Amino acid sequence: MKILFDRIDEPGLNTLEVYERRGGYQALRKALGMSPEEVLSELMDSGIRGRGGAGFQMGRKISFLPHGDMDKYLVCNADESEPGTFKDRELMQKSPHMLIEGILIASYAGEITRTYIYIRGEYDHQANILEAAIAEARDAGYIGEKILGSDHSVSLVLHRGAGAYICGEETGLLDSLEGKRGNPRLKPPFPAIEGLYHGPTLINNVETLATVPHIIRMGGKAYASLGTETSTGTKLVSVSGDVQRPGNYEIELGIPSREIIYGLAGGPFPGHEIKFWFPGGSSAPVLTKDDLDLPYDFDSMAKAGSMLGSGAIIVVDDSHTVLEVAMKVAKFYAHESCGKCVPCREGTNWTVKMLERIQAGEATPMDLDIMASVQEQIIGNCLCVLGDAMAMPIGSMVEKFRDELEAEIEAARERVEGAELHEVIPIGVADEHAGPFPVH
Ligand code: SF4
Repeated sequence: MKILFDRIDEPGLNTLEVYERRGGYQALRKALGMSPEEVLSELMDSGIRGRGGAGFQMGRKISFLPHGDMDKYLVCNADESEPGTFKDRELMQKSPHMLIEGILIASYAGEITRTYIYIRGEYDHQANILEAAIAEARDAGYIGEKILGSDHSVSLVLHRGAGAYICGEETGLLDSLEGKRGNPRLKPPFPAIEGLYHGPTLINNVETLATVPHIIRMGGKAYASLGTETSTGTKLVSVSGDVQRPGNYEIELGIPSREIIYGLAGGPFPGHEIKFWFPGGSSAPVLTKDDLDLPYDFDSMAKAGSMLGSGAIIVVDDSHTVLEVAMKVAKFYAHESCGKCVPCREGTNWTVKMLERIQAGEATPMDLDIMASVQEQIIGNCLCVLGDAMAMPIGSMVEKFRDELEAEIEAARERVEGAELHEVIPIGVADEHAGPFPVH
């Protein structure tokens, strides 16, 4: 069943004309005819959980916002930077008005008058499309003072980030939006109480907000009838890595993971087998081919020791070593760590160094124990989730592929020792200046 991706490739869908012709902004009109409490109640009934990673219920988030005469903010997190995730990019590029309509309805439910879209710097093309769509929506009276003759006034500003992973973390994003360095903040206070410019702030992901018009159109209960009891609705899944048909797919939550990886994405290339897969972006603990029949939903992934995260499945087949993938993951997070807290700043760099020791043939199996213990000390001890985002997948790789990593340690040691022996130039065979020493 397609909701967000229903005829997503229709030419001109990014324009107001085509979007309206397809019934666009009717959900906003319907919402404005209801009270904010009634709109919130529909969102609560839908059970929709945040599609950005944390999976927190959207309706509950809005209900945490205080009432009263004050500046409240809504921030759409469009800083899609989790490796393997590219679904929001397609949504914003092909149907920007769907997102704008969702933001406007959510702002009404939360009695919010100032809204922002924080988009990652690399999404220049999508930012241009959004800017044009915002201008169209403003000209048509969907954004501004007393929209569509209602009492609700709302502004919408598009803000471009400068391309830092940490600005996808909600409080780092808020600092960046305020013009500061994007550093995560201590929580509590949570953004719903004290967020942007110290005001109550609702932060939601692009996909979550883009689903809002559909929930209002269908009704919260009808939306909740899709998916599973605790993971309602449909979800966009970005599938990448070693599959024949990588791309974004809309699925009903709870279908078998195998159906996504093999059925939709075509499975691995002929002659190869899946070694492991990340079910929710590179920060999710890895699952193996034995987990392919698990239902793809928030709770099943959590029960299996991983997470649905941003809904990005990265498939790794048997042509890659675990060490190679672990190194890519660790280097990425070490590079993106803001350095504010010790376990993350030191732990990510130590992990890279330990993986380099393995590659250089300098490690022993004991290093794997040290590496596992470093990951354990990072998890739950950092200011934001970036430290955990590296420690969880690396810890899971060490746990599930210890035999392969030990073999890699042994092979690297033999490779290096063999190379050193090979490079000893025997006396009398080489030129007159050569001696019985390694040449490096
Ligand atoms: Fe910065 Fe890492 Fe600490 Fe997050 S966990 S605040 S990225 S150092």
